[in-house]
Amino acid sequence: MTGPTELETIAATFGIATDTAFGAVTPPIVLSSTFTFSGFEHPRAYDYSRSGNPTREMLAAAVARLEGGAGGVVASSGMAAIDLVLSTLGPGDLVVAPHDCYGGTYRLLARRRDKGQFDAIFIDQNDGDAVSAALHRKPSLVFVETPSNPLMRIVDIQALSAQAHAHGARVAVDNTFLSPALQRPMTLGADFVVHSTTKYINGHSDVVGGVVVAATIRDVEILRDWANTTGVTGAPFDSFLTLRGLRTLFPRIRQQDNSAAVIARFLEGRAEVKAVHYPGLPSHPGHETAKRQQSGFGGMLSFELRDGAVAASQFVEAVKVFTLAESLGGVESLVAHPATMTHLSMGPEARQAAGITDGLLRLSVGLEATADLIAGLEAGLSATTDYE
Ligand code: PLP
Repeated sequence: MTGPTELETIAATFGIATDTAFGAVTPPIVLSSTFTFSGFEHPRAYDYSRSGNPTREMLAAAVARLEGGAGGVVASSGMAAIDLVLSTLGPGDLVVAPHDCYGGTYRLLARRRDKGQFDAIFIDQNDGDAVSAALHRKPSLVFVETPSNPLMRIVDIQALSAQAHAHGARVAVDNTFLSPALQRPMTLGADFVVHSTTKYINGHSDVVGGVVVAATIRDVEILRDWANTTGVTGAPFDSFLTLRGLRTLFPRIRQQDNSAAVIARFLEGRAEVKAVHYPGLPSHPGHETAKRQQSGFGGMLSFELRDGAVAASQFVEAVKVFTLAESLGGVESLVAHPATMTHLSMGPEARQAAGITDGLLRLSVGLEATADLIAGLEAGLSATTDYE
């Protein structure tokens, strides 16, 4: 008998009713750090939880199935997942990354580059000339983040993957902002998909975790080996919680997507707002590509206030319902000021080059009633008009 094919069913039911010990409907958590050998030189399926653990493997298999990959490795954070992909590179390898990626990704790539572990360049991946010039340098890896954090820029995964492959490069896509519920980069040519599962996949802001999915079993084996070697594998308890969160991913993100669309239109009509970055708006430069490669626009957006940093601080002091905090993708709505929070480590020059201004605010839309979210934003915006 074949299993379910609809992704929503896979997310809701992966591993359900598979327990052979007690017939538990919910897969039991296995916290043991070590496992018995059945005899001398006879390990069982698992021997030690750094190298393999049933609860962690179940989460990895669930995400890999949703992404359409051959398998996955669960790591202790999104950064650890990205670093795991980078473990496969060495001196002489070049990484081509987006100039406006998540600040932590930028920092990781820049620091490893500065240590001579590989070379890395940051480019605008929508600039055809910059992409061609970068690919002519024969990179080993093209790292993509779409939509990008925090400017929600869209990169055409299929087109860039084809170009990268033609030059012998592999492609890794950070799918944190949409999750496999709304975007499946492997169906568009990506070799690796990475997630901060801290965000939508867990969805409840109570676990820090990450996962890498690879398209081929060979790459899965290489990643597993590196994960065991460096010890970046995630904790079983975190995997248990993340699998629990994953079961409701689809209905959560659908609701967040609906509210974000209403919020984007609301913000677009406000005099205090200079620009709204939301791929669901026809005015967004990546709208057509997003429509083609995504099955929804997601629950993330950012916007720029006319009066810059002063207005941003007034807004965050007065806004209701949205809490001032880093992270995203949880059931609760959050507002972040990238220049002083998530993207502080990039430094002012790199931020300026990426277009991350001091008046930019990022919203992660939660599951509160849409009307309350709008009222909360209204309170924040009204406070900024006092400035004029
Ligand atoms: N990738 C993206 C797009 C992110 O937004 C983040 C964190 O905000 C990460 C990766 C890093 O994930 P973590 O915080 O789980 O290490």
